[in-house]
Amino acid sequence: MFDFFFNNGFFAYMLVIVTVLFAYFAQWRVNSVFKKYSGVSSRSQTPANVVARQILDSYGLYNVEVVHVSGKLSDHYDPRNNVVALSDSTFFSPSVGAIGVAAHEVGHAVQYNTNYLPIRLRAIFVPVAQFGSNSWIIFFLIGMFVGWPFFVDIGIVLFALVVLFQLLTLPVEFNASRRAMQVIEDQFLLGADEQVGARKVLSAAALTYVAGLMVSAAQLLRLILMSRRRD
Ligand SMILES: [Zn+2]
Repeated sequence: MFDFFFNNGFFAYMLVIVTVLFAYFAQWRVNSVFKKYSGVSSRSQTPANVVARQILDSYGLYNVEVVHVSGKLSDHYDPRNNVVALSDSTFFSPSVGAIGVAAHEVGHAVQYNTNYLPIRLRAIFVPVAQFGSNSWIIFFLIGMFVGWPFFVDIGIVLFALVVLFQLLTLPVEFNASRRAMQVIEDQFLLGADEQVGARKVLSAAALTYVAGLMVSAAQLLRLILMSRRRD
């Protein structure tokens, strides 16, 4: 019975569906948690971009710029130009959620500028992962349809590189949130009760990265089983 499911790729297919549903849940959760805590103003009333500037200055990172980007939850740190980009819902907001997000992005800037190894490795890995992400399906499909196992294997290896990149992203994300909560506490940027909200937002965001990795890992398993079935 199990053999039937396994050989038909049914098991892997179900795993993909379950992980995709989990990823939707994680996305829904981060949106709803952020919505809640972006409505809770901090007692300091300091806008998130000012908080970000303060934290960066406290680390002596005067060279890192804080800029405004459009979009919702599109906040990020860009190592190419050493910029902390805060989105519409974050930049001017003095909310507990916005300050949490801003401190997290500054956490990435601190990682990069203090040569934290995982973020440096991740930055080197970006073009490889991009190439893998764009090209795996071409190799895989050509290999499957024309019947060239070598191409199928190349497709799978390229996809595995994408999964590896997502795996490398996890320590970077968890560490940035840990740094964020530490600096918020050390510099009294939020009260103890307010920190609970910021922590919830960052945990919800972390879950989306875990879910993304799970989707890709399930997909990788499915590709491997599909390629085996041919033989
Ligand atoms: Zn991050």
